[in-house]
Amino acid sequence: MKEELKAKLFQEGKESFPAWWITLENIGFILNWAIGFYLLLPFKCCGIPIVSWIYLIILIVVQILLKYHNCTNCYYYGKWCHLGWGRLTGLMFKQDSGNLETGMKLAYSYILQLPVILIAALIAGFMYGFSFTNIVLLVLFVIINLLQGVVLRKKGCEVCKARFICKGSAAH
Ligand code: SF4
Repeated sequence: MKEELKAKLFQEGKESFPAWWITLENIGFILNWAIGFYLLLPFKCCGIPIVSWIYLIILIVVQILLKYHNCTNCYYYGKWCHLGWGRLTGLMFKQDSGNLETGMKLAYSYILQLPVILIAALIAGFMYGFSFTNIVLLVLFVIINLLQGVVLRKKGCEVCKARFICKGSAAH
């Protein structure tokens, strides 16, 4: 993190986040991604759910790149941020090694996740039929995404040390 930005840190922000907060947020993300994977299963090629696997590969690559480009430049690098990813990044990459501009562009993947999977799941439903499980999971997927994007993200940003300097902050 650049020295001039340190002066603009939110002094009352949390230095680290409790384990229950980190665990709950991570469960939310894993659930979100797992449902996304499941909803794409109907698209098969030679019996292989190819679209689900492509989704998973893209997800893993984007997540690694986000850690590299965003988290290496964050105040919480090496620390327990609200997701614990700052700590994880500290074990994987050198501090300030990523490009924040690239990281910000990659962060749009969080916004795109909902419409892309939602449209794909609806197409899958019209092509292969809607099962009860798929409808329930689709509703759950929408709820989790809205909860994460509208409620939880703001809550995390409000007590984040970087809330005034982070371009992705929901609590400026
Ligand atoms: S302000 Fe929000 S988006 Fe930015 S680092 Fe803090 S919690 Fe993450």
